[in-house]
Amino acid sequence: MPFQSFNPPRRILMGPGPSDVYPQVLAAQARPTIGHLDPLFVGMMDELKALLQYAFQTTNPMTLALSAPGSAGMEACFVNLVEPGEKVIVCRNGVFGARMLENVKRIGAEAVVVDSPWGRAVEPGKVQEAIKAHPDAKVLAFVHAETSTGALTDAAALCAMAEEAGLLTIVDAVTSLGGVPVKVDEWGIDAIYSGSQKCLSCVPGLSPVSFGPRAVEKLKSRKSPVQSWFLDQSLVMGYWQGDGKRSYHHTAPVNALYGLHEALLQLHHEGLEASWARHWAMHERLAEGLEAIGLEFVVPKEERLPQLNTIHIPAGVDDGAVRAALLNDYNLEIGAGLGDLAGKAWRIGLMGYGARRENIALCLAALKDVLGR
Ligand SMILES: *Cc1c(COP(=O)(O)O)cnc(C)c1O
Repeated sequence: MPFQSFNPPRRILMGPGPSDVYPQVLAAQARPTIGHLDPLFVGMMDELKALLQYAFQTTNPMTLALSAPGSAGMEACFVNLVEPGEKVIVCRNGVFGARMLENVKRIGAEAVVVDSPWGRAVEPGKVQEAIKAHPDAKVLAFVHAETSTGALTDAAALCAMAEEAGLLTIVDAVTSLGGVPVKVDEWGIDAIYSGSQKCLSCVPGLSPVSFGPRAVEKLKSRKSPVQSWFLDQSLVMGYWQGDGKRSYHHTAPVNALYGLHEALLQLHHEGLEASWARHWAMHERLAEGLEAIGLEFVVPKEERLPQLNTIHIPAGVDDGAVRAALLNDYNLEIGAGLGDLAGKAWRIGLMGYGARRENIALCLAALKDVLGR
């Protein structure tokens, strides 16, 4: 028999995601599969929704996990809130802002692009100018934590500008959720999406999303139907709503949701503030060690994302050979550069359960050894 069970080694995941998964999450996913309309499962989903509301810091009833990865959460926000012909201001300072732009184009909407340099936060002044120059725009979209570069954008400031001008906001919080403050209600975010595999330290494949009252209103007053049946939130919500009203939409990924429930439970046990503080403390520890071995950050200090550390590859160093040695000799994965930074930078993730002292010690020692060869 040439085929065998697949038994992956235990790697330490310090790249841009997936991050190290909590052992409790892997254990939860191995529990018995039950029917997705089983009352016990429905009860678990209600609790999962409350845990997501905690993570997002919102009371939005339309808060749920899509049965698809973060990119589907992005697409869900765009296809539900943007209609063909409408104008959308899209901020682009890395790969994921560019992906947002692609969504806007495919809807047949008109994009106004606000470019900021790679490795920097979105510039609020430029956004304000675009809002003034395009009073007919309907939506402002931006990436809170740009994983391709490691830059953190001031989401509260951009949302305040959008609210003042009557624009809806679409915010990418795939990497920010759980790692840095994300305050949906306080900041007035209208639509937000995240991913299970970054700072939530669950397995990949689920996308937490939340839609606020203005987004729900827009959804209800659309002139055209949402072009995606699967991502149409007015249909999905019928499935997530409690009160015995649950009806079949698609078969929920039952065991994957056990895992997300467990991951959010871990976050709740630790507490959001404690988790944010831990990510900062671990970032400072890693940064100190990296700088001590002569490695330099791409992003200026005040715009850095603690959970994603992008550093310049030193001159003359073979990018692929270093990452291969880390993986083969240390079971350690770090991320390659993406887009404009391909071949020029490494991305070291400190996400969720992965943001621990022992991982940092191993990463620094391994880098020192491999770079010294
Ligand atoms: C990872 C990531 C995504 C895409 O998530 P997938 O689960 O890979 O589809 C989107 N935006 C940002 C900022 C990300 O880091």
